[in-house]
Amino acid sequence: MTSAGPLLVYGERSLGYDFGPGHPLTPRRFGPGIDLLRAVGAEPGLAPEPAPDEDLLACHSSDYLRTVRAFSADPDLPRAAGIGSGDNPPFRGMHEAGAAVAGGSLRAMEAILRGDIEHACHPGGGLHHAMRDRASGFCIYDDPALAIARARRDGRRVLYIDLDVHHGDGVQALHLHDPGVLTVSIHESGGYLFPGTGAAGELGEGSAAGTVVNAPLEPYTGETAWLSAVRTLVPQLAAAFGPDVIVSQHGADSHALDPLAHLRVTTTAMGEAARLVDRMAHLHAGGRWLATGGGGYDVYRVVPRAWALTWLAGAHRDPPERIPAAWRGRWADEAARYGQGPLPEHFEDAPNAGMEISAAQVDAERRSRGIAGVVRRVVVPRLVREAVDRGWWSPLAEASADARGGGAAGASPGAGRAHPRDAAVSIEHEPAVIASLDAATLERLALAPRVVAPLDPAAAKAILVAALRDGPGVKVSAALDGTRIVGLVVSASSPGVPGRRDLLAIGVAPGARRRGLATRLLEAHVATLRPGDERLHVEITVGERDPVDPLPVAIRRGVARRLLSSAGWAEVPVAPELRAVDPFALASARTI
Ligand SMILES: [Zn+2]
Repeated sequence: MTSAGPLLVYGERSLGYDFGPGHPLTPRRFGPGIDLLRAVGAEPGLAPEPAPDEDLLACHSSDYLRTVRAFSADPDLPRAAGIGSGDNPPFRGMHEAGAAVAGGSLRAMEAILRGDIEHACHPGGGLHHAMRDRASGFCIYDDPALAIARARRDGRRVLYIDLDVHHGDGVQALHLHDPGVLTVSIHESGGYLFPGTGAAGELGEGSAAGTVVNAPLEPYTGETAWLSAVRTLVPQLAAAFGPDVIVSQHGADSHALDPLAHLRVTTTAMGEAARLVDRMAHLHAGGRWLATGGGGYDVYRVVPRAWALTWLAGAHRDPPERIPAAWRGRWADEAARYGQGPLPEHFEDAPNAGMEISAAQVDAERRSRGIAGVVRRVVVPRLVREAVDRGWWSPLAEASADARGGGAAGASPGAGRAHPRDAAVSIEHEPAVIASLDAATLERLALAPRVVAPLDPAAAKAILVAALRDGPGVKVSAALDGTRIVGLVVSASSPGVPGRRDLLAIGVAPGARRRGLATRLLEAHVATLRPGDERLHVEITVGERDPVDPLPVAIRRGVARRLLSSAGWAEVPVAPELRAVDPFALASARTI
């Protein structure tokens, strides 16, 4: 199965999800879509059947199920729970149809969790707008949210990546308070498009603050800036969070030809994004990856290619260059009849989908890059960002084999076996503080999990070794329990601001916390710096947290504030663009 490609989820029931003629989300897409998937070697291997109520109740209320069933039997009932004319018109059998989409994603997730398969691809899934007690945006039951809930039942940490042009509001809302689910949505700004949400400032709340990530892009943003947002956010977030399972939504409506939205993404960029998600699944999640479809309303020219490219990414195959002539021959007339011809000749589009890059697009992309940059500054831990920006480490690189053998977080635990990151660190003696560590010494030491980002301690150690080798501007102080590092403070001279030194990370392993170790480390760290030379600066956002067991955000901020002020740091104003996105952001400075 692994070598043949992802399990393709499709069957007769997929065609039953039909809001009627004239509705944009049409089952007509399965004709050319499944036909092109077959042409690249995919065969349906799991036919969706309706999920039982006990499954649906993981994300939906029993009242809502009753309402959907009532409409299912009698579509003439008065509007209720988001079901009525417009986006979500009632139709006979709508409960079974919606429950079958959910069932397809749920059974695929279970096959992944059992280890029967690594990847599954469910083109009819991705109904990401459905809420707990109402239908929304063509979505009755929220199959990606339900698949995530199923993985959570097994204690798996889930990264959800939503590439649909519309904000993945339902999935975000249904897992809003769970710090074990990180939802990342890259979409056209809600200021211009349904559902109107997905602003950069939606970050999650309480202990889950920082587990909601939104990159709202400006209309007319093209493939380059879109892909840049995907590339800069997804791998770094995945490394920091360390998921056990990835669920992704590959709505094809971000495409330049889509009639319902205004981005200018290409199939080339969509394929690239899918291959990046596949890479993350193998790097962090033991290959566990459920890909779903989503929106996509150019059902002949765009949707089939987007589905095929997503499946091919999971099959670890490069896309063929040309669309088979036989496929084009079979669908040309129907495409023309619906005004979506002529059919493309290639899987990958011409640059910018063959459109001229207007001044408006250039301006939109500049603003979109700016937004994505601020989002990254808020949600990605500082040490991870600096490691990438300064060339110390790549989030696409494998951790070294020997580091992995030592039980790194990237190794996949079997069912019922404790994950190394969850193992309690018990401290035998009061840890010794080393004010200034060099690269050679650091290499000989072990690093306990969850001291600093990323979650995989092998990757964190690789970053610190590379940083120390990079030059005299980097300083690392460590707390040692024997030969194991249980606390760290890392700082580096700012490349942009002369005379400034940035605190890049401060952290203590669980089990070694609440004993004043961070204060001792910070004091020892400052004592190694030459007086008068540099001004120390730190910026703390929601990205800075223990990704496994985070404290509520207000408490996180309180702890950081007390630690810094007791060490002689003074609060300074947070940069306005940062404050606008993360109201809990904290900035502090100290002269030496
Ligand atoms: Zn793969």
